[in-house]
Amino acid sequence: MRYGIYSDIHGNYEALEAVLEVFLHEGVDKYICGGDVVGYGANPKECLEKVLELDSMLVAGNHDYAIAGKLKIDYFNQHARQAVMWTREQLSKKYKNFLASVDMVQRLDDKLTLVHSTLSFPELFDYIQTGYDAHLSLEILDTPICFYGHSHVPVAFFEGHAVTFSMDDEIDVNPDSKVLVNVGSVGQPRDGNPLASCCVYDDELGKVWIHRVEYDIDTAVEKIMRAGLPEILAKRLYYGK
Ligand code: ZN
Repeated sequence: MRYGIYSDIHGNYEALEAVLEVFLHEGVDKYICGGDVVGYGANPKECLEKVLELDSMLVAGNHDYAIAGKLKIDYFNQHARQAVMWTREQLSKKYKNFLASVDMVQRLDDKLTLVHSTLSFPELFDYIQTGYDAHLSLEILDTPICFYGHSHVPVAFFEGHAVTFSMDDEIDVNPDSKVLVNVGSVGQPRDGNPLASCCVYDDELGKVWIHRVEYDIDTAVEKIMRAGLPEILAKRLYYGK
């Protein structure tokens, strides 16, 4: 089975379309979305509709819950708050109710787990940044692999005597061990590389490939500006920051 895993789309429809082209080309059988479908970008409704149309396995991100009114936005920075307010206006009650109903953790049989932030405290929306953070999630994980997002930086953490990490674009999945894979961000990469990020997992081959995908950044930027959203949310797309 081939899985196409994508996360942190953040309303960037141009980036989403480009990533879905890759999934099509790679012969993906099942779509898996790590949340933050909306927030920041100019096409929240279109992105959400696409995720649903693909019957994606889905978990909620902090922006999804914030827009649904389920999470306080006090700790969001000013630009993120503005984007939350704007996005709320763009989505019907039906979609906001749907976002509020999405779970924070999903498991596909004994094959894989999906979360937006951490498995240890998914409701806190903390970041996995250190080996110790990764250890806390790996300890709970009861499938060989867990996909996650949130930091917008692709990276893999491997279980071991000491947790190790890799930023390679090819990751080996060992059925006797456990790995956490951050799939990066479709719509707002933050690792200094502006290309959209996603990954493909082949569970028979035991391999994950991170893909970086070119897309029409100019159009995504123009739409954000036209929507009257903060300029920084547009410009950062050129720098991947
Ligand atoms: Zn995000």
